[in-house]
Amino acid sequence: MERKVGKIVTITGPMFSGKTSRLIELLERHMRAGRDIALFKPNIDSRYSDNEVTSHKGIKMNAIKSPIGKDSIKFIKSRINGINIIGFDEIQFWKESSHIDDFIDDLAFSGNIVYCSALNRDHFGKPFLMTKKIMSISDEIYSLTAVCSKCGEDATFTQRIKNGKPDFGNLIEIGGKGLYEPRCRNCYVKPTRIIHL
Ligand code: ADP
Ligand code: MG
Ligand code: ZN
Repeated sequence: MERKVGKIVTITGPMFSGKTSRLIELLERHMRAGRDIALFKPNIDSRYSDNEVTSHKGIKMNAIKSPIGKDSIKFIKSRINGINIIGFDEIQFWKESSHIDDFIDDLAFSGNIVYCSALNRDHFGKPFLMTKKIMSISDEIYSLTAVCSKCGEDATFTQRIKNGKPDFGNLIEIGGKGLYEPRCRNCYVKPTRIIHL
């Protein structure tokens, strides 16, 4: 019997680079072709709606909130019966202990197509661990840029802004426009002190 070839596709870049919009577009193509899809988002992201993924443009798609730790794989398995097209928004939020990267690799080896949107760097400018892991096992990678909020160049960094100034604090603080700005390499302000994560 012919076995379908699975793959892992990652869409990476800073905030506002269009990762979620692209993820939705890619999943919509499969829906148009009559295939069932399942889209998961981390259960820590409470922005906008509870059962949808929403892009900064306002484009929406139904999504299932997933745990991001050890209980994640079991939960996802229980939701993808018979579905071969699986999406993850904000995969960087999944914990290492979830082993979601190994699970995604297994999914692709068994003929599924997996799409992941992945924030490239945190606001300290450091890579997210799960993004690194997923990118290294991807078959295809879209690297997107936003428009730098200071100068209009291509932005690959995400700056956290508080009271109009670059701010460095907890690794994860959920927010959109107002809290975060896309910046190019020249306009991105690096943290001055060494922070051990
Ligand atoms: P991401 O998931 O990468 O944060 P989204 O797909 O949610 O991105 O949003 C991308 C949209 O954000 C763009 O299509 C544009 O309409 C809007 N946007 C707002 N500010 C910017 C910016 N500085 N650069 C690029 N797009 C921006
Ligand atoms: Mg997004
Ligand atoms: Zn700039």
